[in-house]
Amino acid sequence: MSADKPGKVWLVGAGPGDPGLITVRGRELLAHADVVLHDALSHPALLDACPPSVELRDVGKRGGSQSPTQSWITSQLIELARAGRNVVRLKGGDPLLFARGAEEALALSRAGIEFEIVPGVSSPFAAAAYAGLPMTHRDLSSSVTFITGSDRDGKTWSPEAWKRLATATETICVLMGMQRIDVITAAIIEGGRSPKTPAAVVQWAARPAQRVVTAELSTIAQAARDAGLSNPALIVIGDVVSLREELRWYDRRPLFGRRLLVPRPRHQATGTADAIRRRAADAIVLPTIEIAPPPDPEALRDAARRVKEYDFCLFTSANGVDRFFEALLSVRLDARAFAHCKVGAIGPKTAEALVPHGVVADLIAEEFVGESLAAAILEVPGVRRVLIPRARVARESLPELLRAGGLSVDVVFAYETRPAGAQHRERLLELIAREEIDVVLFTSSSTVDSMVELLGPDAASLLARVTLASIGPITSATAARHGLEVAVTAETYTVEGLLDALEKHYASELT
Ligand code: SAH
Repeated sequence: MSADKPGKVWLVGAGPGDPGLITVRGRELLAHADVVLHDALSHPALLDACPPSVELRDVGKRGGSQSPTQSWITSQLIELARAGRNVVRLKGGDPLLFARGAEEALALSRAGIEFEIVPGVSSPFAAAAYAGLPMTHRDLSSSVTFITGSDRDGKTWSPEAWKRLATATETICVLMGMQRIDVITAAIIEGGRSPKTPAAVVQWAARPAQRVVTAELSTIAQAARDAGLSNPALIVIGDVVSLREELRWYDRRPLFGRRLLVPRPRHQATGTADAIRRRAADAIVLPTIEIAPPPDPEALRDAARRVKEYDFCLFTSANGVDRFFEALLSVRLDARAFAHCKVGAIGPKTAEALVPHGVVADLIAEEFVGESLAAAILEVPGVRRVLIPRARVARESLPELLRAGGLSVDVVFAYETRPAGAQHRERLLELIAREEIDVVLFTSSSTVDSMVELLGPDAASLLARVTLASIGPITSATAARHGLEVAVTAETYTVEGLLDALEKHYASELT
C-alpha cells in the first residue's frame, strides 16, 4: 500500500526508565505519532503522552520464540511509512547504542523513507547518575568503554578482546553481560586487571526497582548471583565504583522502591503518578471508580445557562470543573458567563483545572475542605446566591454551612462516580495477593468508598498488610468508618503534603 503523501519514521530514545528522562523532543513526537512501535525497555507511562487515536504496537524482544524478528520490525516501519503514517520507533536508552537503530535507519534510507533520529539517555549514563557510578573522574578514570557481552548470532564468544580491553581502558561498562559475567570478569583479570578492582552490577538503573551490588572484580559475579540480579543490568568495572557510597542519592530517598497504588482513573492520576516517581517510588495506577455523566444532564445545562444569576460558583473537584465547562460549551457559553459570578475552589488542584477554561479562581479555601471553603465564602460581603456543581454523592457540609449562614444555595450534579469494572478488581486482588503494593494513597473520601466497594466486605482484612495513607483527617475518618486503619495522614491536604507525610513515616520507621 502506498499513500499520496509518504509518512516518516522517527527513531526515538526512550531513556533508561524514569519517564522523566525522555527528551523534550521525544515527548513532542510521541504526542503527534500515528503509530508507536515500542520495546520492552521503554516505560509504559511514556505512552500516556500519545494522542488517544494512536496505534500502539509492542514489538519487545523478550528472548521468547514469539518475539518479533528484527527484519519483521524493519519491514513494519517501511510499510507503515509508505502508507503515509507518522511512525515513532521508541527504543530504551539511546537508539544507536546496542539497539540496532543503525540497522533500522539504514533499511529506511535504502527504502527511500524519510527518517530522523532522536538520542536518548543511555543506560550507562542513567546508572552513572542514579547509582552514583560516574563513568569518568579526573583522578580515577580518564577513559570509558561500552561493550556488549552478547554477540551476533553464530559468532562464538572469545576471551581475547576482553583480555586486550583489561588494561586498555579505565572504566569498563558492559551491557547485556549478565549471562557471561563469570567468563567476562575472569578474562579481564587474566588480561592484567587487578582482581581487587571495584566493580558493580546495576539492575533497572533509574527505576524504583533499581538494585545495585558492589564487590571486587574477582567476586562480583558471585555477589550479583547471590543477590539474584539479572538482565537488564550493567556491569561497571573500575575505580569510579568506589565513589558510589558518597554519590548515591536515588536509592537513599525515603520512598525509594516503594510501590504506591493510586486508586484513580488513569487520566486523573498522571500528576500524582509523576509526583510519586519524582520521589523514586513506583506508581501503580488502577481505577476503582469510573466517572459517569450526571443522572440529569439537562439540570446541569440549565445551571450552566443561569450561572450569571449567582454571586459565587464553588467547585470542589477538577472533575466538577471539567464537566461544568463542557455543559457551558454545550449551551454555547464560555468563561464570559462568569463575568458577574465569582469563582471559588476547594484547593489548588481544582483551581488549576479552571485555568485552561479561562478562569482564575477568586478564592481558594485555606484548608482544602468544605468547612474551610464555606467559612471563606461567608466572610465575603454581599454574597447571596451560590451555585455548587459537584459529584452526585459528596459531603453535604459545604451547602449546609452556607445555608446556615443565610445564603441561598443550589447544588447541581455535574457527574457521578461508579465502581470500576471487574477486570480492575481482579488486577487489584492479584497485586494484593502477590504483595506488590506497599502503600495505598487515599486522596479523597470517595477513593476510600470506592476502594471498599470494589474489594467488598473483606476490604479491611485484604488491606491489613498494606500501609494506608490519607490526604487529610476527613478522608482518614471515612477510612475508619469502613474499619480501615490509616497509618499516615497528611498535614497539608495535597498530594505533595501526603507524600511528605509518607516520607516522614518511613524515615521514622528507619530510626
Ligand atoms: N539502547 C540501550 C541498550 C539496549 S541493550 C541503551 O542505550 O541503554 C539492552 C541492555 O541495556 C540490557 O541488557 C542492559 O545491559 C542495558 N540496560 C538497558 N536499560 C537498563 C537499565 N534501566 N538498567 C540497567 N541496564 C539497562
